[in-house]
Amino acid sequence: MTQELNNLKLKIVQVGDPVLRAKARPLSNAEILSPEIQSLILQMKNTMHDAPGVGLAAPQVGLPLQLIVIEDREEFIKLLPPDEAQAKDRRAVKLHVLINPQITLVDPENSAEFYEGCLSVTGLLGSVARAKTVKVDALNEEGKPVHIEAHGWYARILQHEIDHLHGILCIDHMNTRTLATIENYRRFRPDIT
Ligand code: ZN
Repeated sequence: MTQELNNLKLKIVQVGDPVLRAKARPLSNAEILSPEIQSLILQMKNTMHDAPGVGLAAPQVGLPLQLIVIEDREEFIKLLPPDEAQAKDRRAVKLHVLINPQITLVDPENSAEFYEGCLSVTGLLGSVARAKTVKVDALNEEGKPVHIEAHGWYARILQHEIDHLHGILCIDHMNTRTLATIENYRRFRPDIT
């Protein structure tokens, strides 16, 4: 029974759902270790894999909790032309969980602009400037403190996912004139000059 619950995939809510604009609340250590949250973490991992995506925040499955799962798989990066992976400073990131994260943008002026999408804004992409380097302090799924210093695409994922916990979506940062359907993005590749 537990195994079945853990294999559940959750519904990803779409832009316009108020939960995506709510402030998520932190989790206590007792909550983190509870069977409910441990099961939610497994379900969020399954949901992210199934989507597929490189990150998923609890508000995206309808729960205003400060909980994120992230994984950028080698197989995703292999699909990119090598110069694109290099330009985006994108490397594989192992599956991990971040709870109650605090983020610091290191030198916010030192930013990179790339097309970005969101599992809660299905089918659309747009150009978003993000700091190239961030530091994050959070708890892991055991309630233990973790400190991360991230660069490039991983720093972008962290900014995107932690924004979700504050009711902020990538479209809020987007240069809206660059908004494109995924189909048109692939067709016209506006980021390749
Ligand atoms: Zn998102």
